[in-house]
Amino acid sequence: MPATDPPLPRLIAALDYAAQQHRDQRRKGIEAAPYINHPIALLRILAVEAGIDDGDVLVAAALHDVIEDCSGPAQEFIEQRRAEIGAQFGARVLELVEAVTDDKALPKAQRKLAQIEHAGQLSREARLIKFADKTANVRDIGMSPPADWEPARIAEYFDWAARVVDAMRGADATLEAVFDAALAQARRAHGG
Ligand code: ZN
Repeated sequence: MPATDPPLPRLIAALDYAAQQHRDQRRKGIEAAPYINHPIALLRILAVEAGIDDGDVLVAAALHDVIEDCSGPAQEFIEQRRAEIGAQFGARVLELVEAVTDDKALPKAQRKLAQIEHAGQLSREARLIKFADKTANVRDIGMSPPADWEPARIAEYFDWAARVVDAMRGADATLEAVFDAALAQARRAHGG
C-alpha cells in the first residue's frame, strides 16, 4: 500500500523521532560518534548510493534501531515506541522496523545465528534496510572499530555480516554491489 503523505515531511519527522530516541547514545566505535549518524548513514546508502525511493523503506530505515537499541529495556517502553511508530508512521513502517529488529530475549551468540536464518525470510523491502544496515556497520567497523576489538573479532564480524548478506541476495543488485565494495575495503583496511 503506497503512502499517501508527501515523503519528505514524513522522513524528516522520522529522523527527528529517531534523534530524540537515540539522544543519549553513542556508536561503539573508538570515535564514539553520535548514534543518529548511523540511521543517517543508512539513508545515504539507500537513497543516494542505491537510488531507493520507496518512502516507507526510507522512513523505516531512519527508525530501524529505535525499538531495539534505545534506552530502557523495559517492555513498557518498547511497547510505547511500537505504538508511537504505528500511529505516526503507519502499519507498513512498523512492520518493516519490526522485521529488522533482533529478538533481545535471545543470548548474543544465538541472536547472531538467528539473524542469518531470519535474513532469508525477510520481505524485499526489509532486505533493503538490512543490506544498508550491514553496509553502514561494516564501514564503521572498518574505519573506527570498538577499542577493545582484537583483529580476530573484527574479521569474525566481517564474516558474519557477509553471511547475513549472502542469505538475502537477489533483492537489489546495486545495494549488493555497494555492500561488496564496503566489505572489500574494510577487509583491506584490516589486512584481510
Ligand atoms: Zn542499525
